[in-house]
Amino acid sequence: MNSFNLEKERLEAYAAKEGKKLLVCEAVHPLGKESVWIDAAKDLIDSVEIVREKIGAEKALVLCKGDGKAFEDAAAGKAIEVKTADDVEYGMPFMAPTAVGRYLNGEQGYPCLDKPICTPDGELVCAFLPSAIIRLSGKLPETREFFVNDTNKVTVKQGQTWAEVAAAGGVAEARGVIAGFPDFDVFGEDELAQSFDIWSLEGDEIEAFDANTCITDVALKLITQCNDQTCGRCIFCREGTLQIKLTIQDIQNGKANMESYNLAVNLAKQMVHQTLCGVGTQAGKLFLELADKFGKELEDHITSKDCKALSCKKYITYHVLQNLCTGCGKCVDACDEDAIDGKPRFIHVISKIDCTKCGNCVSACPEGAIVKAGKIKPPGPMRPIPCRRKD
Ligand code: SF4
Ligand code: SF4
Ligand code: SF4
Repeated sequence: MNSFNLEKERLEAYAAKEGKKLLVCEAVHPLGKESVWIDAAKDLIDSVEIVREKIGAEKALVLCKGDGKAFEDAAAGKAIEVKTADDVEYGMPFMAPTAVGRYLNGEQGYPCLDKPICTPDGELVCAFLPSAIIRLSGKLPETREFFVNDTNKVTVKQGQTWAEVAAAGGVAEARGVIAGFPDFDVFGEDELAQSFDIWSLEGDEIEAFDANTCITDVALKLITQCNDQTCGRCIFCREGTLQIKLTIQDIQNGKANMESYNLAVNLAKQMVHQTLCGVGTQAGKLFLELADKFGKELEDHITSKDCKALSCKKYITYHVLQNLCTGCGKCVDACDEDAIDGKPRFIHVISKIDCTKCGNCVSACPEGAIVKAGKIKPPGPMRPIPCRRKD
């Protein structure tokens, strides 16, 4: 969870340094979105001011993407400058303090091993994420904004449970939650009734999912984000995120086996220790936590060809329920693959060979007679037979 002790150590180390210092608040969203902190600009700027004084920096800089007016208004009259960093290519790697230092020196915003880094004016760069700045200021607001599943902005009160936050974000019956980058903490169903400290989370993203979402889709989405963001400097991040992404795709497509899955788990263990910044480290940690909390579901795909969420196309089939079909033929019109056989007042039948599992027929059927099935298939005729429904 949070690295508060490390932050405090960094704060104390910065405070102990002699010379000019620049406090930088990295309000650049890791995925390039508008910062969630715009809605809490005053709280953030107040905390920046407190931390600036704590470390003895002459001035502070808030880096953001897009419109920084909310931050500028809140910073009026203070020794705080707001700068939009729209030219930053990579959001996640940019969250490393060394990347910020390079950026302020006119270089690409990638992490590096050189520490400390000074600006061209000779100021020592002291960089923190917004959540860290709030924690270090000691002035913790009672609420905090998060994005749930990318776009649902939710105001979370101190002490709310994971389940409540997921519901506020549109997932009423969550079975899992992942606190997003840069932490990637994974919580299973039995942990969702726990309340949590909103200020213990580094990032502003929360991923919530219910029984209709397959864990492979959640894993693929987040690992792809990491793979998209890798700056390529570390082989375990560059290749590791790619290999894990390919393994997850193989699991979805029925091409993975337990050997390839275990190889990906071992690779993830290496990534945690062999990468320069949080992107590679957290991508590895994410896959390890998913394997720990949702490993059975991942393994069921591989060993039992079973996707309980009925999401992975490889493991599902579409069927017409014989007691509901009226033989209206609307599903035939909706199917571009000519995969449905039938005639008026006959129970229609879907060909397992021709069906591409697009799902178009499900929404076209006025009777709700077409369903997806996993390992257990509903009974039905092999070829069209007269309908049983009399209405
Ligand atoms: S961990 Fe990934 S993003 Fe970070 S420096 Fe290494 S390659 Fe770049
Ligand atoms: S799922 Fe798509 S391809 Fe399959 S029967 Fe329905 S409409 Fe046709
Ligand atoms: S499955 Fe639905 S759409 Fe297709 S014939 Fe039967 S009732 Fe009509």
